[in-house]
Amino acid sequence: MNKIGIFGLGKSGVSAAKYFSKEKYKIWADDDNKSSVEKLKETLPEITYESFDSWKYDKLDYIICAPGIASLGVNKHKIFDLVEGKCEIICDIEAFYRLRKGNSSFVGITGTNGKSTTTALTYHIMKEAGFNAFIGGNFGIPVFDLPIEGDATYVLEVSCFQLDLLKECSFDVSCLLNITPDHIDRYESFDNYVLSKKQIFNNGKENSVAIICVDQDTTRKVADGIGGLYPGRIITYQSDDSIFERNFDNLPGKHNMQNILAAYNICKTLGVKNNLIEKSARSFDGLEHRSEKVFEDEKLLIVNDSKATNEDATRPALRTFKNILWLAGGVAKESGINSLSEYFNKINKAYFYGEAAADFAAFYQSEGHENFEIHDGMKQAAIGALEDAANYDGKVTILLSPACASFDEFSNFEERGKAFKKIIMEELCG
Ligand code: ADP
Repeated sequence: MNKIGIFGLGKSGVSAAKYFSKEKYKIWADDDNKSSVEKLKETLPEITYESFDSWKYDKLDYIICAPGIASLGVNKHKIFDLVEGKCEIICDIEAFYRLRKGNSSFVGITGTNGKSTTTALTYHIMKEAGFNAFIGGNFGIPVFDLPIEGDATYVLEVSCFQLDLLKECSFDVSCLLNITPDHIDRYESFDNYVLSKKQIFNNGKENSVAIICVDQDTTRKVADGIGGLYPGRIITYQSDDSIFERNFDNLPGKHNMQNILAAYNICKTLGVKNNLIEKSARSFDGLEHRSEKVFEDEKLLIVNDSKATNEDATRPALRTFKNILWLAGGVAKESGINSLSEYFNKINKAYFYGEAAADFAAFYQSEGHENFEIHDGMKQAAIGALEDAANYDGKVTILLSPACASFDEFSNFEERGKAFKKIIMEELCG
């Protein structure tokens, strides 16, 4: 009988537990958060719920660990040392791959920013091209929620935490978008973070394809580094490579061109014709909360970029839009908005709100910009921007791109983005 452990009972752990339980595996499950254990007990009473430190590791085929549980760094969870040498610890994607390899195709997409957009766009084009494609992974749909079908192509967003728990997984097509400093608490250095991202190309085969955007020195070095080692084909591209005659109104900005060209190269590799790729990419609606157009007329554009929870994610929005009334704030990341100063000239006025407001305003002012307001919450900031927008002669863009986490006011970026859209609609429609 197959025996596995599942540690971490969030979305992906619960999904794996349901799948393996149906397949009659003997399962041990645990989570440091005991309320998650109690919840799963109600749906899957057949599983053994014992503390992970009492599991017989050498009797298990493997342990599926949730990507949120630190496998490295100062916060490394003790399960990793306890299990060392006795049993493999993998993520759900690796377990899914082992079950499906040889029968299905796997596309893996990673990068610091743009993963979700690129994954969704690739999936959209593949569906339009008639593939039996499924989207999941870090995208919010755990792989074990996906149908298991013979001719399936799984288009997966893969985070670095998931990459760290892959062993044999070999993506038929793997794509790296960009790497900027992130998750340094887990990786302790940028070099380690780069090494983590590079793992997307592990286990490549002769007919595999690696696609790398070489806009940055870092990713160019990754491409050079795997050069002699990767057995398949390596395709590199830059966001400036001009392939399309017209801009994509549905996916504005250079950062989105990075995503579009990634999807283009992936789909081309899989045999989709150029004109179909372009047509499908133009019919892609974009994802909610990522440079999402909320309203537009001749005088005003309103954009919800609530997913921008750090300055790296906000930068492309400031670069893309013009005459900006910028809404930023919430709980700031360590570097604040310091690296965004080169775009401050594009901002007509800033509306800082929440916990970060005073610090952001102080930095903005220290860079020679006086045109800002400070508000307690996002709603007041949005109303302030809407009132001001009416007074400009030319067209302005109200941009919510907070460069901050949202949890001083909201439970997550989705709730923040939805609240913003609601405020806008109420104010505009009366
Ligand atoms: P991820 O899944 O990697 O977090 P998303 O597609 O959800 O990426 O986008 C997250 C944020 O990053 C959004 O604010 C978006 O505007 C911005 N963004 C999207 N694509 C890129 C890119 N290629 N480079 C930099 N920033 C990007």
